[in-house]
Amino acid sequence: MNPKEALERLREGNRQFAAGVLDSQLGSLVRREELTSGQAPIATIVSCSDSRVPSEFVFNQGLGDLFVIRVAGNVDAPAVVASAEFGVANLNIPLLIVVGHSNCGAVQAAIAHVKSDAEGVQNLAAILDHIAPVARDAYATYSSKNKYSLEETVERKNVQNVVNVLKTQSEVIAAAIQNQDVLVVGAHYSLETGVVDFFDGDAAD
Ligand SMILES: [Zn+2]
Repeated sequence: MNPKEALERLREGNRQFAAGVLDSQLGSLVRREELTSGQAPIATIVSCSDSRVPSEFVFNQGLGDLFVIRVAGNVDAPAVVASAEFGVANLNIPLLIVVGHSNCGAVQAAIAHVKSDAEGVQNLAAILDHIAPVARDAYATYSSKNKYSLEETVERKNVQNVVNVLKTQSEVIAAAIQNQDVLVVGAHYSLETGVVDFFDGDAAD
């Protein structure tokens, strides 16, 4: 499957999910047995740990279809980049998507942190350190003319930042992009509508 075909399959899967249709065969015993000898996922998904954003549901995909990397705030931590590299280099996955979402608690915490300049909770700092620079920049430049709320602007800019990191800070991924073996795309999921908005051009302004 090439990158565009994989993207189209995820778009179609999300259309089904948003309409309330889920394929009940995606976790079948037959499929489980088929997969014991290996995997060939069609997409790597970097997404938030939020319980309301499980990639297999959101894209109506089943066992063996998605290589999912979940971390609060879908941040660009080194282990996230390394996992994405593994998907490209070892599994030849043609599509790499970073999915942010509405009402993201990690983004809300980062905005609160920027507004109050308060000390973060120690462990949470490892997450906030990645989002706070994006939140600080968005907060400083935000105006009421922006297309999205401040919160959604940060959610989208955080995604775009992670996309940029994946594209530029991994030689493995950069080479695969050059060879048109992988497409890296940002996206934003709405809890309210169930729809994933794939970014074309500028994501957040
Ligand atoms: Zn979240």
